[in-house]
Amino acid sequence: MGGNQRPRGTCKLCLLDKWLCESHLIPKGIYPLLKSVRGDPIMVTPEVMMRTSRHTKAYLLCDDCEDVLNRGGETWIVPLLATANDTFPLYDIISKTAPDLDEPDMKAYAASRNAEVAVDKIVHFAAGIFWKSSVHSWSCTQRESLIDLGPYSNDLRAFLLGKELFPAAMTLHVLALPPPVRIISTHLPIKAKSSGFRGYCLYVPGIDFRLCVGKKIPDELRRTCIYHSPLHPIVVAEYAQRELANDMVAFGARLRRRANASSSTTAASTNSP
Ligand SMILES: [Zn+2]
Repeated sequence: MGGNQRPRGTCKLCLLDKWLCESHLIPKGIYPLLKSVRGDPIMVTPEVMMRTSRHTKAYLLCDDCEDVLNRGGETWIVPLLATANDTFPLYDIISKTAPDLDEPDMKAYAASRNAEVAVDKIVHFAAGIFWKSSVHSWSCTQRESLIDLGPYSNDLRAFLLGKELFPAAMTLHVLALPPPVRIISTHLPIKAKSSGFRGYCLYVPGIDFRLCVGKKIPDELRRTCIYHSPLHPIVVAEYAQRELANDMVAFGARLRRRANASSSTTAASTNSP
């Protein structure tokens, strides 16, 4: 520990030996948005769905690398997320141009035609959270990292530092919910259903990010990747609001079943002679 009570160690991003600071998995600035709903924020992790005021944080990065993530995307996007007061500035910016695809349940906007949408900031923001999830458990009880990006974790690290382009073996998909956004919560990156490649999703108020990883990502997914597609598409989908709400309810039920199962196992083993 230094005089400032911070540990010294290898920064996970620059890999240099530095004084480390407490890094948040979900940027600190998002917590006040969640707080404004009712009581403490709802956090969904692979283990629990809970109301908590605890921030998910760890000594992970040096000050310089924290700044790389702040300037890379967090500072730009956090004030533009959906709030409990029915504001969603990022949606207002995205929808300033006419949609390129307009269907009853879904619209798609080419951010390439809207200079106000900072595609590079959106990509850096999501890449930062997915990457942090791949290098640390963010859990008191688990040791393995929250998600497994395999060798691509290091490619994403190089991208965050501005040394490489966004990995060719990854696609990032951005789904914004149309206002009024009813889901003012967040879930940490979790594995999503996919076949032939790995998929992960992450939700922050108003935006659902999907990350696909692997060499077998289908071409149609590549065409909707905000980074790789020259149109830089952003989808606004009412159905995403229903899907997310359903996912969260199903997830809560699954956790409750698991908790009940483990408490009855505990009870059984306590009762056994
Ligand atoms: Zn660093």
